[in-house]
Amino acid sequence: MRLHTKILIGLIAGAAAGVGVNLLAGEAAWVAAVNHYLFGPAGQIFLRLLIMVVIPLVFATLVLGVAGLGGLREVGRLGVWTLGYFVGTTTLAVALGLSLMNLIEPGAGLPADTARELVETYAEDASRRLEASAADRFGIQTIVEIVPRNPVQAAAEMQMLGVIFFSLMFGVGLSMLSRERAAPMLRVLEALAEVITKLIELAMRLAPYGVFALIFVVTSRFGWSLLGHLGLFVAVVVGGLLLHCLVTLNLALRFGAGVSPFWFWKGIRPAAITAFSTSSSNATLPTSILVAERNLGLPRELAGFVLPLGATLNMNGTALFEGAAVLFVAQVFGIELSLTQQLVVVVLSVLTAIGTAGVPGGSIPLLMVMAVSVGLPGEGIAIILGVDRLLDMCRTTVNVCGDLTAACVVARLDGLRQPRRESAA
Ligand code: ASP
Repeated sequence: MRLHTKILIGLIAGAAAGVGVNLLAGEAAWVAAVNHYLFGPAGQIFLRLLIMVVIPLVFATLVLGVAGLGGLREVGRLGVWTLGYFVGTTTLAVALGLSLMNLIEPGAGLPADTARELVETYAEDASRRLEASAADRFGIQTIVEIVPRNPVQAAAEMQMLGVIFFSLMFGVGLSMLSRERAAPMLRVLEALAEVITKLIELAMRLAPYGVFALIFVVTSRFGWSLLGHLGLFVAVVVGGLLLHCLVTLNLALRFGAGVSPFWFWKGIRPAAITAFSTSSSNATLPTSILVAERNLGLPRELAGFVLPLGATLNMNGTALFEGAAVLFVAQVFGIELSLTQQLVVVVLSVLTAIGTAGVPGGSIPLLMVMAVSVGLPGEGIAIILGVDRLLDMCRTTVNVCGDLTAACVVARLDGLRQPRRESAA
């Protein structure tokens, strides 16, 4: 049986078992114990096996990517294509989310008492998340901190932008050396990238079990009854995410990348399932790079350049969710946002999505800051926290699919080798 089929079985079995246990014995002590001692740690170990390789992988693939592209000018050109594509599709995603929210108005029907109850229940969780983040520093300092003072510290603290910047500069420096001088470093990095690829393959062999455990923990604990109140909001966000994939990404694939969307979706299944079950773009990066090379036939230097940038900067799903969440809170509190304010929401959603860390719930602190800046009560975001994990799984999947689409489109735009059409999944 192929690996992606096994992973899919893990996903479905984990979800079925988790929902079943939740309905039959959601509050039972044994469920908490099983999660605490068995599935929780098993899922975390799988997650860590993937995250463990992210820093060396980003360093090796980006440096090799930049060196393989040829030099500063080529990297600059590719960088402009890539960032332009990121901002364009992210803006389309937010516009889609806001249009659906204005059309369906899921917040208008939520009773005030229920809203108050939800805010009270999740207020503590909301303030804990805000405190734990660096959201208050989001602004001009974020730009300064792209340049790390110490690359080792940036790596140790998993500051992806700092690591990316250092790797890009390292690659540029390497490409300025003569071929002979650069050769030993290139050989070391190539070997490093190959070793890391083997580690990813090993970790992915555990994916069916890891995915089962991660999904079981989420679904067995999830407050499904919340869907009674927030179901329409969840449906609008999930519907928006699906539409973004079916329309925007498919059009980009067909006309921007010149590939069959069907072939693409078939090839990226392992990355999509990993994103769905880990809720983390960073943790999915190793799998994305693997499927980009193996199943989409993208050149390594391109995948190594676009995908690490995408995992950090390109979050179509997150942006759509953020815009929709702000509008939902405004609708619940009966605050009318003018067209100008909604345009501000579009710009802020794009910016905060770029600034969001690719970790579970990474967007929530910035979302609270954004809500306050358009005149909404920041704690209002607490209303949706109960369903956030479910939405996080969905938006992270779209974030990752957006990154892989970007890699295919940029490959074509830049005249690099066209992705292979046949799948080797
Ligand atoms: N979990 C998302 C990601 O890693 C970020 C977020 O929207 O919270 O892509």
